[in-house]
Amino acid sequence: MTQPLQFSPGTPCRLADYDAGFHEGLEKEAAEAETRGHCEKLDELAYRLFAESQRAVVVVLQGIDTSGKDGTIRMLASGISPQCLDVASFKAPSSLELSHDFLWRVHAKVPAHGRIGIFNRSHYEDVVVVRVRKLVAKHIWKERYSQINAFEKLLLEGRITFVKCFLHISHDEQRKRLEDRLKDPKKQWKLGPADLEDRKLWDDFTAAYEDALSQCNTPEAPWHIVPANRKWYRNLVVARLVRQTLERLDPKFPPFDPTLLAKLT
Ligand code: ADP
Repeated sequence: MTQPLQFSPGTPCRLADYDAGFHEGLEKEAAEAETRGHCEKLDELAYRLFAESQRAVVVVLQGIDTSGKDGTIRMLASGISPQCLDVASFKAPSSLELSHDFLWRVHAKVPAHGRIGIFNRSHYEDVVVVRVRKLVAKHIWKERYSQINAFEKLLLEGRITFVKCFLHISHDEQRKRLEDRLKDPKKQWKLGPADLEDRKLWDDFTAAYEDALSQCNTPEAPWHIVPANRKWYRNLVVARLVRQTLERLDPKFPPFDPTLLAKLT
């Protein structure tokens, strides 16, 4: 059983076409074992990327509230040494950030060559939440799709590879997760009134995401629609994607200077 993770650039994305509960028929234990294997490999690949220091990778995590961004970061961080990893979380912009163009704060968090950056939310908030909550005029967020594509192209030319993941959960699953957060004293802190308000805007968020995914799905920086109702399947898909990306980059250790051997006293 398969379900595509990607869709063709230039075609519209309809989230209803993707089953958020899809799991390839896998069992949880088997998926978790496979994920552990990918994480071990990720550690080695990230170390080589770090040693090479010529390229970087940005994993963009987007999704509606409770879609599992934090859990995905925990999984990736379990497989990558902290010296090779940067995590950036994008919250509502500060007044300083708002006094710059919307990409200013994002560019500042792009990892240096040799590193893997995880974006917990990203510049895509500037075409999603700002549209749904009407924080900027329509003509402003509409212009941003091409600005984002140009920004990502600039970074690609600077040897930054994007792995863009949309964590796709269903409306029912979000309800379960919000209920869980409301009842669990260890999770209550994660919830604010805005989260419950945003749930009422589910259809608006879906429309805004569908446009963002469709407009910014380039061959060089494609979106992946990650079925995320099952946390263990979501982790498996993201681990696979990051591993495949690093394997494709195939980072190399810098050449060794054999004259160093003679210099050891
Ligand atoms: P999270 O939900 O990611 O765990 P928070 O509860 O602090 O963290 O939520 C961060 C909030 O910041 C979200 O509601 C998100 O939509 C908002 N946000 C992020 N970027 C922007 C932006 N550019 N403009 C307005 N709001 C933003």
